[in-house]
Amino acid sequence: MKIFCIGRNYADHAKEMNSPVPTTPMIFMKPSTALLPYGKPFFIPDFSDDVHYELELVVRISKQGKSISESNALDHVGDVSLGIDFTARDLQRQCKENGHPWEIAKSFDYSAAIGEWHYIPVEDLGDLEFRLELNGEVVQHGLTKHMIFTVPQLIAYLSHRFTLQKGDLIYTGTPAGVGPVQSGDLLEGYLGDKLTLVNKVK
Ligand code: MG
Repeated sequence: MKIFCIGRNYADHAKEMNSPVPTTPMIFMKPSTALLPYGKPFFIPDFSDDVHYELELVVRISKQGKSISESNALDHVGDVSLGIDFTARDLQRQCKENGHPWEIAKSFDYSAAIGEWHYIPVEDLGDLEFRLELNGEVVQHGLTKHMIFTVPQLIAYLSHRFTLQKGDLIYTGTPAGVGPVQSGDLLEGYLGDKLTLVNKVK
């Protein structure tokens, strides 16, 4: 199972990071060992002093494909969930400054929290609403219609370079409002009105 992640797929998040909006999808990957199953606590790793949450819509690939066209892309989408792309922002800053890859900041154990899976008609993927509550307060609010690259565009782009296999996950990018987590925090992700992701921070 591969975990693809999309960087800067919402203009408001690129802006808050003082980063340019990309003209082609920005891709990085996490290993399968990065997955934090539904409901499990997230333990802040000892190698970072500034771990941030990034709530993202996650799609699961339902069947294998290579060089999938945009028009066929939604045939390859199965269930949908929310995930958190936990990011060691201090390490990511160093990676950016040094021109190094991001894995050390993005792909560590349990850095990819995943919620419960939902069936959503694929034609609705471009018009979903999701939000993250931190200790009961809304800190992120996303509308998938604001994605810079749509799910079909991402699948076409990715599958031209990487064979997509059943079960692969795509974290489709985070909207604005990212911030640090602290021990004791409660993170709750809602897809529409459905509580979909819950992680306690320890
Ligand atoms: Mg992200």
